Amino acid sequence: MSGYAPPIRRLIEELARFPGIGEKTATRLATFIIRGSHEDAQRLAESIVDVKRKIRLCSVCFHLCEGEVCSICADPSRDRGTVCVVEDPDALVAIEESQGYRGTYHVLHGVLAPLDGIGPDQLRLQELLDRVSGSAVREVILATNPNVQGESTALLITKLLRPTEVTVTRIAQGVPVGGELKYADRMTLGKALEFRRSM
Ligand SMILES: [Zn+2]
Repeated sequence: MSGYAPPIRRLIEELARFPGIGEKTATRLATFIIRGSHEDAQRLAESIVDVKRKIRLCSVCFHLCEGEVCSICADPSRDRGTVCVVEDPDALVAIEESQGYRGTYHVLHGVLAPLDGIGPDQLRLQELLDRVSGSAVREVILATNPNVQGESTALLITKLLRPTEVTVTRIAQGVPVGGELKYADRMTLGKALEFRRSM
């Protein structure tokens, strides 16, 4: 990379920090930006700054949103008695696209991963408990991924919610074991939600 002028090297280094992007891909992206128009580069830079300035976490469900509350929590037609717990915003979006769910969500922003130093305190678990105990929530659907970390997180939440009145269900295994919700097709996700089971 030493053959590149310093500003190009800097861009490649910044792009290579993105997940799944190695130096090779970063170089290709940098070349694309360099060859593009000044306006294209400006738009890209502005969209990055804009997203950092405007996007925050919904104060109710912790989904990414613009403003205080996300559009799902603000929608009066959504069933507030049902809360679907997901690992990340990607999973929420995938379930929304299946179009079979009319309840609300709770985004954990991670799963238990002791080896990576992610314990219960790093997830939005206390917020979930507060939300369930202080409201009319009847059912919590655990839609963490059907892999080891997702299952252990689901078990922990089940245990934490046991003292409450709420019904805890787990999505059915229509989703491939070891897979991730965001890669499942709409039909599979829809069925997985429909045939959820009690925990
Ligand atoms: Zn929300």
